[in-house]
Amino acid sequence: MSKPVVGVFALQGNVREHLAMLAQVGVEGRAVRRPSELAEVDGLVLPGGESTTMDKLARAFDLFEPLQKRIADGMPTFGTCAGMIMLANEINGGIEGQETLGGLDVTVRRNAFGRQVDSFEADLDFAALDTPYHAVFIRAPWVERVGLDVETLATVTEGPAAGRIVAVRQDRLLATSFHPEMTGDARLHGLFAEIVRGQ
Ligand code: GLN
Repeated sequence: MSKPVVGVFALQGNVREHLAMLAQVGVEGRAVRRPSELAEVDGLVLPGGESTTMDKLARAFDLFEPLQKRIADGMPTFGTCAGMIMLANEINGGIEGQETLGGLDVTVRRNAFGRQVDSFEADLDFAALDTPYHAVFIRAPWVERVGLDVETLATVTEGPAAGRIVAVRQDRLLATSFHPEMTGDARLHGLFAEIVRGQ
């Protein structure tokens, strides 16, 4: 593959930050707002933002079904925070009628860490990384169930949420509860770029 093209779902959420990180890891990032743009990408980032709004806008812009189809057909996809919720097969704590794109065999709990700890930061150990990854969580989900084909990449190690799963991979699908685009550490985007290159 020549330089891979990675889209960022751009109807809602942290789009610019992801595009900047993708540039750092040597892939071409492109905002995706319509089906014709989705058709041209080799992989996709579903950013953080608000999953209930993403769900509604994806439908309003006729992207919901094309997205579901490409994910089901094996398009590498990286869901972060609200994007993790969008990728999950099941959600707990969703609003009435909220649906997800699905593909990732997990159950996530929306706004899982509670109101008191709306946002927090934590250092996470990833087997694939030499040093801990500093993660920023904002009204984040956690993963309550992982399917047999899902690999847990990181859990919270300290505090009341210790042991909670916050990063997972299932083949070409990668998902984090936190915002990897906010700290300047491009290693997880690097891992995703490898998945895209390897397909
Ligand atoms: N709580 C948001 C949701 O349910 C996710 C927050 C985020 O992406 N930072 O979509």
